[in-house]
Amino acid sequence: MTSRAIMWFRRDLRLRDNPALGAALAAGDVLPLFVIDPAFDGAGAPRQALLHDCLRALDGATGGALIVRRGDPVDEVPAIADEIDASTVFVAKDFGPYGRRRDEQVADTLVGGGRRLRGVGSPYAVEPGRVVKDDGDPYSVFTPFSRRWRDHGWDDPIDAPRSPDWIEAPSDGLPERPDAGIDIPSATEENVIARWRRFRDGGLDDYGNRRNFPAVEGTSRLSPYLKYGVVHPRQLLAESDARNESHKTFQSELAWRDFYADVLHRRPQTAWENLDRRFDAIELDTDAAARERFERWCAGRTGFPIVDAGMRQLVESGWMHNRVRMIVASFLVKDLHLPWWWGARFFLRHLLDGDLASNNHGWQWAAGTGTDAAPYFRVFNPTAQGERWDPDGEYVARWIPELGTSDYPDPMVDHKAEREEALARFQAVKARR
Ligand code: FAD
Repeated sequence: MTSRAIMWFRRDLRLRDNPALGAALAAGDVLPLFVIDPAFDGAGAPRQALLHDCLRALDGATGGALIVRRGDPVDEVPAIADEIDASTVFVAKDFGPYGRRRDEQVADTLVGGGRRLRGVGSPYAVEPGRVVKDDGDPYSVFTPFSRRWRDHGWDDPIDAPRSPDWIEAPSDGLPERPDAGIDIPSATEENVIARWRRFRDGGLDDYGNRRNFPAVEGTSRLSPYLKYGVVHPRQLLAESDARNESHKTFQSELAWRDFYADVLHRRPQTAWENLDRRFDAIELDTDAAARERFERWCAGRTGFPIVDAGMRQLVESGWMHNRVRMIVASFLVKDLHLPWWWGARFFLRHLLDGDLASNNHGWQWAAGTGTDAAPYFRVFNPTAQGERWDPDGEYVARWIPELGTSDYPDPMVDHKAEREEALARFQAVKARR
């Protein structure tokens, strides 16, 4: 009898260029599985709706063969392996703190039943833990990491399998799609690849010049699909050209994604704790007045147009331009003196691309508590940032219809005074060392 395997999909919801799926099919007949883990119930409605769309698309791509089970994967995966007598469960490795723990438990349970979990590939161009210095130590600074990352390189993408005969089993089916109240572009592989190629052919050569201007479509908008692995970074790297400066800049952004995954993999506690523990001592505002300031930030009612436009773009569309993410994050930490993790949590609830590594380390970058790039004393001036990156006010006008009317609030703080306050709090930490 042919041997049987399970392909357990998680953040790799595609058939093309999927090494774990390739390995599963090479091992025998395959059951394609997704487990809806109740731990995911806490994700915001936008991400839940996107996941639903990605799963529906994957189910379509398998000809309706995707088996969906709901429950704790530690119970569900070994149970279905027993049901169909699969010898191996194939996965793309997960390097996040929760995923690693879960996979260890699933692997232990499978081994107990004489079966095994086999990790092949990952959601990254280069797996976390692989980019190391000559002495084997990890990098904690991005630029040398990215150089070594390029030197390390990645495999070429592999083709999709040709219409396999999937193993059938009872499926719980997809639950109802949550209503996120936002437009989510199609999540089929074909459409995501078409989106990438439109960007590659029409925008990539100019990416270096246009990527910082939020009013223009200067970036790929692929982050939600990279998050769920509808497309793999390897596919984008293979179809861009490092000899072109603009393409190289784009590739570097993919290196940031790998870098933050690497940092989180090595130091999982930095998901919610300062990477630089010296900043644990900085004074933060957390009282009722601070909560009120936070609510105004969330609602896009700070009176600083670039901040408010960004927050409204986030809540109304599930995405925010990278330059504006940096501005609103700096504002929360340095003008409002709030804990970065308040902002990070709000982002994760609303972002379609919400990702623990990129988000929380993006926040630590803005707060100056993470990897080295933005020292605490570098404070973004939200007005100057708006003038520089949205010179015609097109972006702010798009998201704030009442701008320029009496309905729009005055600035909630005096930036100059709050900058001084942020620097004084920083000095106090330095003095205490
Ligand atoms: P492009 O400019 O087209 O870049 C291509 C891809 O490179 C992106 O899709 C993304 O996968 C990766 N990338 C680009 N910039 C970064 C970066 N700075 N860090 C890590 N990866 C990057 N990105 C997320 O995917 N999920 C998040 O939850 C997230 N939270 C963020 C929070 C803050 C405070 C900041 C400052 C940045 C955050 N980013 C996050 C990074 C970045 O803003 C988004 O990846 C980017 O805006 C996505 O748009 P795009 O696909 O058009 O990017």
